[in-house]
Amino acid sequence: MTNRRRFLKTAALGAAAAALSPVAGAVDAGASGAPTKGAVRVVSTWDFGVAANQAAWSILSRGGHSLDAVEAGARVPEADIKNHSVGLGGYPDRDGQVTLDASIMDADMNCGGVACLEDVEHAVSVARRVMERTPHVLLVGQGARQFALEQGFKKQNLLTPAANKAWREWLKTAHYKPVINSEVRSYGAGVPGGKDNHDTIGILARDARGKLAGACTTSGMAWKLRGRVGDSPIIGAGLYVDGEVGGATSTGVGEEVIRNAGSFLVVELMRQGRTPQEACKEAVLRVLRKHRSTAGDIQVAFLAMNKDGEFGAWAIQPGFAYAVCDAQNQRALIKSGSVLGA
Ligand code: ASP
Repeated sequence: MTNRRRFLKTAALGAAAAALSPVAGAVDAGASGAPTKGAVRVVSTWDFGVAANQAAWSILSRGGHSLDAVEAGARVPEADIKNHSVGLGGYPDRDGQVTLDASIMDADMNCGGVACLEDVEHAVSVARRVMERTPHVLLVGQGARQFALEQGFKKQNLLTPAANKAWREWLKTAHYKPVINSEVRSYGAGVPGGKDNHDTIGILARDARGKLAGACTTSGMAWKLRGRVGDSPIIGAGLYVDGEVGGATSTGVGEEVIRNAGSFLVVELMRQGRTPQEACKEAVLRVLRKHRSTAGDIQVAFLAMNKDGEFGAWAIQPGFAYAVCDAQNQRALIKSGSVLGA
């Protein structure tokens, strides 16, 4: 698991190196992508978004479609066994089952999702099949799994030895209490529930035709109650795209995002004239205002891009970063502004 402190330091160094590039002004806490309006661009949550963006960029840079780009990008952490919060290698629920949540959406309100999907690595691609090959938006549990296998997706055990070991360790003292994700609690580096474990990938892209698309995929909260579904597969919560306005995605404690229809809220705020960063900040403040007593202890972050390719993010806690890739800057990692702390 990546050490968050280490990568943010790397981001700061990258900021200095990128000082002359068009997005360099964005490589500061809280800055937005205003200078490069109209760009072909992809943005993704967290440090592993850098690698995801590379896969997306290989499609965007050849004139490919944003929908293909976000799917290709999301598949990168899904296949990474070292990433314990997305896809293969994700930490399981309290009963030892890895269950995946994912969604995908284009600029024209076409969308699909899967929730609580087992035994299939690329949940984002199953979500796309739901969108393209069924009249439905969301399939869950055994039905989602059955659909995926019927569609030819490979059945595989998603519980890697490392994730199984971590789960068995947790069982020793767990008393089956689910663990809330938090930037501010110190469970120790890499420990589920601690600062290294709420790492959904949300990815938004704008292609050369000016079309937006987004995707979101996660194994969700580690040791969650069996059947728990987070924000990521829910259109309007973990992901929302409206081609007339922009797109938004989220990471952090999904329950808080669902309660506030978070990504929909960010897009609607952009529709009312806010910049992506302003919209993300207002949505985060909404979460805090409504649940002041508990929300201050958890992390929720939003990432948004408007129809012109301008981008921005905001988080409750410090520690959230997002990756940006466009023609000028291929591997930028940007430290988000936050409401609490430095
Ligand atoms: N939002 C995801 C969920 O609640 C997890 C995360 O991003 O930490 O399932």
